[in-house]
Amino acid sequence: LEANFSVIRNEDGPVNGLITVLHDVTEKETIERERREFVANVSHELRTPLTTMRSYLEALEDGAMEDENIGPRFLQVTQNETERMIRLVNDLLQLSKMDSDDLKMTFEMTDLGELLHQISERFEMITKDKNIGFNKDIPMHPLYVDMDKDKMTQVFDNIVSNAVKYSPDGGQITIQVITRAKAIDIEVTDEGVGIPKDSQPKVFDRFYRVDKARARNLGGTGLGLAIAKELVESHDGYISIDSEWQKGTTVSVTLPYSVHEKAGVSE
Ligand code: ADP
Repeated sequence: LEANFSVIRNEDGPVNGLITVLHDVTEKETIERERREFVANVSHELRTPLTTMRSYLEALEDGAMEDENIGPRFLQVTQNETERMIRLVNDLLQLSKMDSDDLKMTFEMTDLGELLHQISERFEMITKDKNIGFNKDIPMHPLYVDMDKDKMTQVFDNIVSNAVKYSPDGGQITIQVITRAKAIDIEVTDEGVGIPKDSQPKVFDRFYRVDKARARNLGGTGLGLAIAKELVESHDGYISIDSEWQKGTTVSVTLPYSVHEKAGVSE
């Protein structure tokens, strides 16, 4: 704690007051420490794919390229690492926009049910190999919610892609919508690896992963849920996670909602 004192007195008169301003130095230190950790994390996250690529490229140069089995496999690794780096840099750019309040939001009345159906159909297409079953428990009637459609699409993309990533082959993913008086809940439940209880509050932190090696192999950047949280909060909503290790995970998003809202008109 840092203290500044100012004496208040009438012109040439006696002292008749004292102002004490207390600064919380620890908060400044925390911000500075978080900034340093963030830069260290970013450097580490970028260095890992680069060093991986360097060793695969060296091996290719040293003869692996001539081997018709190993050559294409090693090239594929460098391709995957490049793609992960692009994802990482895109995520970082987005976070930096959010940090500087540079994120432009375009709110419009959007049918949430239709949006969720579209997202789930897209994932059904791209995860055919994994044989994941998508169950939907979404009311049939339109559910108009005031949102930035692209941003909320990204939120659900991040959540559903985690559900897919951490699910076993043939696992079931359930997307459920629950409407309440002034809010709407969207819950995405999977039967995947789950998250130990003590790790659950940390999954929304930037770069936090329960199992770094596995998350990285699955192409994760460790930023997906941090971005989702910021985007949901810019909708005055909130996001939470409930999970049981080895059983499965539910991620819930709650958004403000009024039953009376219709497309473009709210009461
Ligand atoms: P990543 O890109 O690594 O998936 P996220 O920010 O999206 O990063 O998630 C952070 C971490 O939370 C993940 O690395 C993973 O350990 C854990 N996690 C997130 N969603 C799930 C899920 N559905 N099942 C199990 N673990 C999950």
